[in-house]
Amino acid sequence: MKPKRSALKVGELATGQDLDLPIFQFVPPQIIGPSVYIQANVHGAEVQGNAVIYQLLKCLEQSEILGKITLVPLANPLGINQKSGEFTLGRFDPITGVNWNREYLDSQLDIAAWYQAHSELDDNELIMQYRAQLIADCQQRLQLSWGVTTGHRQAVSLQQMGHEADIVLDLHTGPKSCKHLYCPEYDLPAAKWFSIPYTLAIPNDFGGAMDEAIFCPWWRLSEYLKSQGRELKVPVSAFTLELGSQEHIDLDDAQVDAEGIMAYLSHRGVIADKVDAAKMQRQACYLKDYKKFHAPMGGMVQYQAKLGQVLAAGEPLAQVLRLDQYGSDNALTSLSLPQDCVPILHFASASVYQGTELYKVMTNLFDID
Ligand SMILES: [Zn+2]
Repeated sequence: MKPKRSALKVGELATGQDLDLPIFQFVPPQIIGPSVYIQANVHGAEVQGNAVIYQLLKCLEQSEILGKITLVPLANPLGINQKSGEFTLGRFDPITGVNWNREYLDSQLDIAAWYQAHSELDDNELIMQYRAQLIADCQQRLQLSWGVTTGHRQAVSLQQMGHEADIVLDLHTGPKSCKHLYCPEYDLPAAKWFSIPYTLAIPNDFGGAMDEAIFCPWWRLSEYLKSQGRELKVPVSAFTLELGSQEHIDLDDAQVDAEGIMAYLSHRGVIADKVDAAKMQRQACYLKDYKKFHAPMGGMVQYQAKLGQVLAAGEPLAQVLRLDQYGSDNALTSLSLPQDCVPILHFASASVYQGTELYKVMTNLFDID
């Protein structure tokens, strides 16, 4: 099956041109599987997700599709085109300074009041009504008579498409990074399908990101219902996939990740084809054990710890070169950590201020099986 192509307008430039997103959609004649929404490149420099969508489109064209699948590459046209010299900036809205992936809408719904008005509904009907409410909230936000910021308009437009799906994948990369997955704690077994060795198990806290905007309102509903003696499994799955480093495209590696996503879609019954998960070790840690190491001093940095490999306490993490201190013991400083860990990502640049987030590392890892 070939995907249908369309476009969604998410803004306008000063010179009048529309900011359009390309949309690819597979709609099977009979929808019997869950629906999926996949977007890439919301951070302008994180381009690898587009290559993954390219490989996914080719895989899906050859598959028997059971659920509606919507793919949106290049999901931030302004951010992607925000270049400075050789590099793409594209992490923050240049007008407001807000991170493009912290612009999503947190549902302000009073769940107790909403449930009181809907408690007679069966699970299916309840899910339909709640979903309609979340989508209506997004639509209402975009129509505020006082307007919304450029970044918020784009994010909420994307979020509206996300709320329509049962499964949402937001494709990102780190700065210099090994692959890792943000996965809500309730959905941890899902992590064993993707071709991703490290998973962060995240709690039910809204920080403004797409995955949280999708699952937090449902998780809250599920918890509220539990307090009322009613069981409702969180009916949506939403993940952020961090697929390597920014400013980098690798089509072979994209194929590996497309196959991981296909394995998950197969497991969920979105495609009829049987796709096995890659055999690999997969480990996770809780968000509270995901530690940031901030540069204790400014200077020029040689990053020594290998990403995705165990680093024992006291082993070399990085060294900082300070030529202004040449001739003293402070010209070269070795940095290490007090605890065993797996470094997941490091800052992209080799020159840092004091306090720069130098590395992010996982500690207290456990196997996922
Ligand atoms: Zn990102």
